[in-house]
Amino acid sequence: MGIELWLPRDEPDIDPPLEAQAAGADALDWDELRDCVASCARCELHQSRTQTVFGVGNPNASWMIIGEAPGAEEDRRGEPFVGRAGKLLDEMLRAIGQARQDVFIANILKCRPPNNRDPKTDEVAQCREYLERQIALVEPSIVLAVGRIAAQNLLGTDAPVGRLRGRRHSLGEIPLVVTYHPAYLLRSPSQKRKAWEDLAMAQGIARTMDRGSA
Ligand code: URA
Repeated sequence: MGIELWLPRDEPDIDPPLEAQAAGADALDWDELRDCVASCARCELHQSRTQTVFGVGNPNASWMIIGEAPGAEEDRRGEPFVGRAGKLLDEMLRAIGQARQDVFIANILKCRPPNNRDPKTDEVAQCREYLERQIALVEPSIVLAVGRIAAQNLLGTDAPVGRLRGRRHSLGEIPLVVTYHPAYLLRSPSQKRKAWEDLAMAQGIARTMDRGSA
C-alpha cells in the first residue's frame, strides 16, 4: 500500500534537517523504520524526549489501535499506553477478545509533547509518514482511533469525537472506527457504555473483514 492514507491538512512551512528531508519512510522495512524513528530530529520534540515511542504489538495484527502521543510514563518506558490510560485500554481490548500483544498500538506522535500539551500541526506533519508506513506494513483489517487527536488527524476533520464515533469511517480501504480516549473515560466513566458500543461495532466490522480475506 503505497497510497497516501490520511486526508491532507494544512502543511506547515518548515525546514526539516537535510538528512530527514532526504529520507522517505515509504520504502522502509520494520527495522529500518524503527531505526529511522529512533534517531528522528524532524521537530523540536526530539530535544525534550527521553526516547521515542515507536509502537508495540503484532506486526501482522488485524487490529491497529492509534492514540495521540506518549505521556510521561510512555516516554520513560518507550512503550505506548503503559500508564493508567493504558490499563483501561487493555481492558477495552479484552472486551473485544484481544490482548495487547495481538494488536498493534501506535500513536500520532512518536515523542512526548512537554506537559502533555496537544501535538502541534508541524509535529503531526513531520511524524505522519512514520505512522503511514506502520499502517502499510501492518495492513490491519481495522483501525481503532482512540480520542480526538487521533480521530481528527486521521480523518482530516475538526469534528468532535461525539460526532465521529458510532459509525464506520475509512482510511483508504481500511475501515476506521473512532471511540473515546481511555484517559477521557477515566475522567468520565459514564461514557464507557458508548465506548463499549463502539468496540462492539468495530468487532463486527473486523470479523467481516477477516472473513472476507480468509
Ligand atoms: N495516551 C496516548 O494517546 N498514547 C499513549 O501512548 C499514552 C497515553
